[in-house]
Amino acid sequence: MSKPRVRFAPSPTGALHIGGLRTALYNYLFAKKMGGEFILRVEDTDQTRYVPGAEDYILEALEWTGLELDESPKKVGAYGPYRQSERKGMYAEFGHRLVENGWAYYAFDTTDELDAKRLEIETNGGTFSYNVHTRGSLKNSLTLAESDVKQLLDSGADFTIRLKCPADEIIYVNDIVRGRVEFQSNLLDDKVMLKSDGMPTYHLANVVDDYHMKITHVIRGEEWLPSTAHHVLLYRALGWENEMPIFAHLPLILKPAPASYINNKTVDGLAEKFTSEFFKKHSDYKHKSQEQVKQMIRGILVDVENISSRVQIKPKDKEDKILIKEFLKSTLFGKLSKRDGDRLGFPVFPLSWQGEKADDSFVGFREVGFDPKALLNFLAFLGWNPGTEQEIFSLEELVEAFSLEKIGKSGARFDYEKAKWFNKQYLINGDNAEIASQLKPLIAAKGWNADDATLETLAGLFKERSTFLKDIPDMATYIFSNDFKYDEKNARKKWKSQHAEKNHALVSILENTDDFSAANLETVIKGFIEENELGFGDVMSPLRIAVSGLGGGPSLFDILALIGKEKTVERLQKGYAYFESLQS
Ligand code: GLU
Repeated sequence: MSKPRVRFAPSPTGALHIGGLRTALYNYLFAKKMGGEFILRVEDTDQTRYVPGAEDYILEALEWTGLELDESPKKVGAYGPYRQSERKGMYAEFGHRLVENGWAYYAFDTTDELDAKRLEIETNGGTFSYNVHTRGSLKNSLTLAESDVKQLLDSGADFTIRLKCPADEIIYVNDIVRGRVEFQSNLLDDKVMLKSDGMPTYHLANVVDDYHMKITHVIRGEEWLPSTAHHVLLYRALGWENEMPIFAHLPLILKPAPASYINNKTVDGLAEKFTSEFFKKHSDYKHKSQEQVKQMIRGILVDVENISSRVQIKPKDKEDKILIKEFLKSTLFGKLSKRDGDRLGFPVFPLSWQGEKADDSFVGFREVGFDPKALLNFLAFLGWNPGTEQEIFSLEELVEAFSLEKIGKSGARFDYEKAKWFNKQYLINGDNAEIASQLKPLIAAKGWNADDATLETLAGLFKERSTFLKDIPDMATYIFSNDFKYDEKNARKKWKSQHAEKNHALVSILENTDDFSAANLETVIKGFIEENELGFGDVMSPLRIAVSGLGGGPSLFDILALIGKEKTVERLQKGYAYFESLQS
């Protein structure tokens, strides 16, 4: 087999959702595994949906995650251009070729005429579709006389070119993920291939480009599966059947399970949030007051175990209830949407995005503090599984383990806790020197001074307790600053007046200890405890609270060494005096 060439083909209509990033990842993994090429093609023919900045966003997201492109608008290879807007001159020819081959026809119907037809069909209880059943009664080159068609074309009348889907045929595709998928041709609509402004639709441009860019495998989201029937027909119609790529349609990414975020603590807030969203969507809803709707939503949410049956629409449900249930159904189940992030408090975009409208701004995984490697590892598992117990994979290991055959058919549930778990694993297993170099600017931004060795020690001490690297400076505040509060409850409990004298004696010993390294401190303090026949906690607990304010934390000897003698002694004197005062 020749080297695979796969493409990620987003439309720059806004920020790239993590579902899009997962598509890019799977394309990348497959290409690299097979020694092939990973290409970015920007599908920007629909100028009405074009959003400035979206292409740059996509490129930046790929760069941040390290999914290196072999060909792109910025790295032009032999099959450019890589933006459809720059290829637009080439599509019309293929639209017309389809007509010449008898695979498509000119349609001259005006919007009004199509609306009239739709109304006629809907009045009789049907749904309108321009297809094998209706095209014979519409205004197109199949129904008009040849001379009329010529005259219309010559006079510059508006027309579209529609694909003529065959009658009574089973169209099929052998999808790698789904096996053989069949489509009944009579149910297909005669999709527009060329619009009246001469521009191609997604379908025509996509197939023409995949063919010309020598794409061997089309790996994309499940939402494109229905279109594949038309694409298969297009390959046939254009005589490219033998070059048709292999298809793999990826499973949907689903919203998190309600039980993972609805509990006693969150239920009121969620009921409130969902109610206000409901009224935003149905501003003219008059059946129930805001409070009544909230109570009903709350009642459904609270029974989280049975939530899916409680939002099923039952025959006896009245119209007002149906509306609320439908709203909840789309809010709680199905495909992960960009609004779910806002709603439930997690990112669904790789990078933050600030659109033009007020409600079009989203926080990204990068800005929350995710390591891009952890994000990719998490995404890899949303739909794919190596078939072993191993969960942590570097990008190279993913390439090695990946195969399209191991992609699942059923939707993959998004689980933010799992995403954080991956990040934590990457942090814990990360190299301290590398973490230290990333900590450097964060520590400096706080106005604190720390040399490289200190930063490295900090990394080692605090990484196990953090989810994100940026948690470390906050947790380590007491290392640099005296400005912290005591956990008073703990201090009261752990300070024992009968040991006060001995604890003060230890402060003097520390004051006279020259070697303030963690190792020596351990020897000195443990020796002192033993000699004085004290309990470990009698000494260590007040010590820790006095120097950090907290009852727990990383190894205390390391902490004292980092804080240094002068500050340690100062804090102990101040802290012990205060703890003693709490006793009276
Ligand atoms: N432009 C389509 C999108 O936005 C591409 C779908 C495909 O990969 O064919 O996802």
